[in-house]
Amino acid sequence: GPLLEVRGLTKRYPGGTALDGVHFDVHAGEVHCLLGANGAGKSTLIKCVSGAVEPTSGEILLDGVPLPAGSPSASLARGVATIYQELDLAPDLTVAESIYFGREPCRGPFLDRRAMRAGAKEVLARLRHEDISVDATVGELRPAFQQIVSIARALSAKARLLILDEPSAILDASEIEALFAVVRSLLEQGTSVIFISHLLGEIATIGHRVSVLRDGRTVASGLPASTPASE
Ligand code: ADP
Ligand code: ADP
Repeated sequence: GPLLEVRGLTKRYPGGTALDGVHFDVHAGEVHCLLGANGAGKSTLIKCVSGAVEPTSGEILLDGVPLPAGSPSASLARGVATIYQELDLAPDLTVAESIYFGREPCRGPFLDRRAMRAGAKEVLARLRHEDISVDATVGELRPAFQQIVSIARALSAKARLLILDEPSAILDASEIEALFAVVRSLLEQGTSVIFISHLLGEIATIGHRVSVLRDGRTVASGLPASTPASE
């Protein structure tokens, strides 16, 4: 079955309905693009999957097993990692520290700086980004590299599903190409991807499937080339 199954997901706020019975599947090994106008419900959908928002009703299953509702730590422990547009790495940490912050070998009785640096180098190499120094200070890196450090952090945490919230919004054309290469490396490592985008050309290049949200409903899901270009 699918890696992620979203079934009849509804989220109501006092002011209105953000999601209205959404069905959405992500299969292992795919980049599933999520397309939709402002207010369509994309953020709410990914926040329900990441546990940041508790749905009103509906089900979210990973590998056929329900994810506890509204629990970011449970989603993360099950291998769902999310990178929001506002990159939230601490600017004063090094790249190696950022990748392991809050996890071994950064937590515990002592900090094993050598193991941490070696692990960070290894995970960046798996993304073919040996060009990022593990000793660089994150705040000094350009946003494109900060994004890759966030992805490396997710990969080191063994993410099985990585959610990227409009990652290309902060990138120039050559950086977008580099991001695509990183996404392809992720697939090779066994991490599947939800990729929010409103650029049809980008979706056709990187997406295996695309789903279109409108007014809190999934109105289309299919191959990128066959998506109605009306959004
Ligand atoms: P998108 O990410 O596609 O722009 P959102 O998920 O942010 O869409 O929003 C979907 C709808 O739900 C919008 O009408 C938005 O105003 C509303 N909404 C989102 N978050 C909240 C919230 N915390 N409280 C009230 N309404 C919200
Ligand atoms: P995006 O750019 O990802 O679509 P938005 O700009 O729609 O995100 O929303 C940014 C944040 O504000 C989100 O966390 C969303 O849940 C929240 N939000 C959106 N609409 C409302 C609303 N009507 N009331 C309260 N919070 C909202």
